[in-house]
Amino acid sequence: MRYRSTRDARPAPAIHSFEDVLLAGLAPDGGLYVPETLPTLDVTALSQPSYRDLAAHVVGLFAAQDFGEGELRRLCETAYAGFRHAAVTPLVQLDDRLWLLELFHGPTLAFKDLALQLLGQLFDAALARRGARVTIVGATSGDTGSAALEACRDRSAIDIFFLYPQGRISEVQRRQMTTVAAANCHAIAIDGTFDDCQDLVKALFADASLRRELSLSAMNSINFARIAAQIVYYVAAAVALGAPDRAVSFAVPTGNFGNIYSAHVARAMGLPIERLVLATNANDILARYLAGGDMSLADVTPSLSPSMDIQVASNFERLLFELKGRNGAAVTQAIAAFRRDGVLPPDDQAWRSAGKLFAAHRVDDAATLAEIGETYRQTGMLIDPHTAVAVAAARAHAARDEDDAPLVALATAHPAKFPDAVARATGVRPPMPPVLAEIMDKPERVAVLPNEVGAVTRFIRERSRLRRRAA
Ligand SMILES: *Cc1c(COP(=O)(O)O)cnc(C)c1O
Repeated sequence: MRYRSTRDARPAPAIHSFEDVLLAGLAPDGGLYVPETLPTLDVTALSQPSYRDLAAHVVGLFAAQDFGEGELRRLCETAYAGFRHAAVTPLVQLDDRLWLLELFHGPTLAFKDLALQLLGQLFDAALARRGARVTIVGATSGDTGSAALEACRDRSAIDIFFLYPQGRISEVQRRQMTTVAAANCHAIAIDGTFDDCQDLVKALFADASLRRELSLSAMNSINFARIAAQIVYYVAAAVALGAPDRAVSFAVPTGNFGNIYSAHVARAMGLPIERLVLATNANDILARYLAGGDMSLADVTPSLSPSMDIQVASNFERLLFELKGRNGAAVTQAIAAFRRDGVLPPDDQAWRSAGKLFAAHRVDDAATLAEIGETYRQTGMLIDPHTAVAVAAARAHAARDEDDAPLVALATAHPAKFPDAVARATGVRPPMPPVLAEIMDKPERVAVLPNEVGAVTRFIRERSRLRRRAA
């Protein structure tokens, strides 16, 4: 499998291996790596494999040239050993047609663990082979940071720095990052929004000499290896519900467009998916785009589902690349205009194609609370606000459409990560699992920095072991 950047405008774009793409994250031209061609998934050959074996198979379709079958099986085994449910991603039925796909049984209780636990293993194996080290830098709206820090703790070849918007994530999310007691793990609170954090990270990567000096690498949702790892649970759920004979629909609570993009790739590889329902909170730029073709930036509105409080959905560039006929020059132009004017230049044909791929629903905080309450009354289950956005969108979709495929809403966080919203909606405080109870007493370690690339660069330079060794 060979990869290229979404912004490579040359007639013969530069090509890269899976391992290069894994370790680099973002392409040097600022684009995102995508496969040159997609592998095909033979769904009939998959008869209820274990999650680990399925992960090794699916990720192997993207990584086989760099990682052997036995090696991938071992890495997947280790990556998913720490999950608290035997099925790793269990399905739970809510009503006749609606299911929950629980993605929160990993160490940090959010779906990011599914990809990042595996990425930690893949990074380690690849770096050991190369005798190399990296500095991972990322931006998080809450859950990626803790999942990435947890996946990299105490690894000798990795220093990791995560930026988050100060005061805009929950206490549990913050503590999950600031209590990781490992010398190679650093949480940085930025005086700004998540988009500011993301821009800072992009600026660090755009500095070619810094990038070389520190071997900068990314583990956030722009890393294609994460997209590959996230395809696994869509396949697992579809097979469990009757694929290939029966198609399934998914409702995905969306922020950076990484999770739902994985579903889109799974479908393009042959997984029978009837409909992909993109669920947003009040930060509805993607829903507005799908409804009317207008992708214009608004201010980020803090919501009850903070991991989706995003305006610039970085993975959307991968879809845009497809919508623009895989034309790197057109993508570069469109993204530059979007960054400059805050509006994506209208492209009717691209918008019409997008509308065939996704349905979209916006679920604001009031509807989110109503859904948490309704699900609790109907089933006795407590769901977190991100999951509630997906369930509400799934119900809105079910009320409207004509097919009767099973509808799977993705449960992306454990309710105990957002206890206040859950208690407000139901009057019940979700019991805290032991892993969370522990971090409430641990000392926190965090650097608070201004929204300035200079300050962030200095901080990372001073603490990266790579730089200290070279100096
Ligand atoms: C990250 C996250 C999302 C959004 O996923 P994207 O891949 O960014 O679209 C939704 N819910 C939770 C709990 C998350 O942590």
